[in-house]
Formats: sequence, structure tokens, C-alpha cells
Amino acid sequence: MDEKHLHYFKALEAFREKECPICFLVKKANLGYFDSLLSERVSEISFHENFVRDNGFCNLHSYQFLSYNQGLGVTRAHHYLLKSWLSELTNKKLKFFKPSGKVKCGACEFIREMENNYFALIKEYWKNKEFKTAILSSSGFCAIHYKKLLKFAGKIPDWLQKFQIQKYQELLAELKLYLDFCNFSLDQKRPALTREQELVWKKAVQMMAGQEGTLFN
Ligand SMILES: [Zn+2]
Ligand SMILES: [Zn+2]
Repeated sequence: MDEKHLHYFKALEAFREKECPICFLVKKANLGYFDSLLSERVSEISFHENFVRDNGFCNLHSYQFLSYNQGLGVTRAHHYLLKSWLSELTNKKLKFFKPSGKVKCGACEFIREMENNYFALIKEYWKNKEFKTAILSSSGFCAIHYKKLLKFAGKIPDWLQKFQIQKYQELLAELKLYLDFCNFSLDQKRPALTREQELVWKKAVQMMAGQEGTLFN
């Protein structure tokens, strides 16, 4: 199976999840990045050269790197990077330390590329009946990924825009229901909530800010 078809089937799978499909795919891609980093690339000099060139990882990915407890790989990477930073400071040839100096996190870059691959796939296949049906049976895109999809695609089909609006309207209604549930002055009229409705505030954050750890520099 070529890469495009693999992405196609991964996307179909993601549309069946009870969360934003892009958040789901991004979390998977992120895990895949660290799996391949820690099983192979961390021992390759090219990884360390890039790590120094990019000024390391962003805050989020630095801590993900740390969370695997691979002391040697983390030490090597930071040893080279700190040497490079010290050489900048002692030689007064500032790169990272000048005001415009930045971290260009390689993990973020990878995720962004994957995200764009999926946006391109969605745009290419949204006319395809099977794909459209899968999107319409999904949980909908979180606001952050929908905003990114709008920017990527330029123009969105009406049915997709309607679908997203409907998802956000449903969420709004559930939030209102929760507020009513917390309003004791309603007395007998306070609604009874299902377990899922009791946790709608968590869903609101996930659908409006994206799932934790899915947004990158
Ligand atoms: Zn999302
Ligand atoms: Zn990053």
C-alpha cells in the first residue's frame, strides 16, 4: 500500500473516533515521531546535528523527549546544544540568543507536515462518497483544526460547514444544559444529566482548544 492510501485508511479510522479526527491523528503521529526517534535516530549523528541547528525542541517536545527516560540520548542532545550555545555567548556571535533567535522544533515540523498531509487528503477526497459519509459520521473537527482546515483549503463545501456548525450548536446546547443543571434556583426544573453530559466541560475544552498536546509552534 502506498503512503497516500495508508493515510486514506488512517483517516477513515480516525473519523470513527469519539474526538476530533485531526487531534487523534496528530497524537498518533507524535507518538510515532518519538518511537522512531528513540528506537533509531537518537543514535544517529544527523539527529544531533539537526537538534543543534534547530536550537533543540520546543517546551512541549522537550518534556516528551524527557518522559521516555532515555538518559543517554537526552544527555547527548543537550550536551551538543549547550556547547553550541556557550560558543555563541563566548564568541559574541549570537544566533539563538539574539532577539529573533528561535527554537525550530523538529518534532513540531514533523507534526505540521502530517497535519498538512491530512488536510490535503481531506480536500482531495471530500467529494468521494465513502469519505464524505465517514466525515459526516465523525465527531467533527475541533475549532482549532477546523480553522486550520479552512485556511489550508481556502473554500469548504457547504455540507461540511453545516456539519461543523451543527456540532458546535450541539455542544452549546449541552453547555447550556450543564449550566441549568448547576442552577439550583430552577429547583424541580433542573435537568437530569447522563454521565457524558456531566463531563461536557471537558469536551468543550477539547473541542475548542484542541486535545492536549496536539498544537504545535
Ligand atoms: Zn483537533
Ligand atoms: Zn515542538
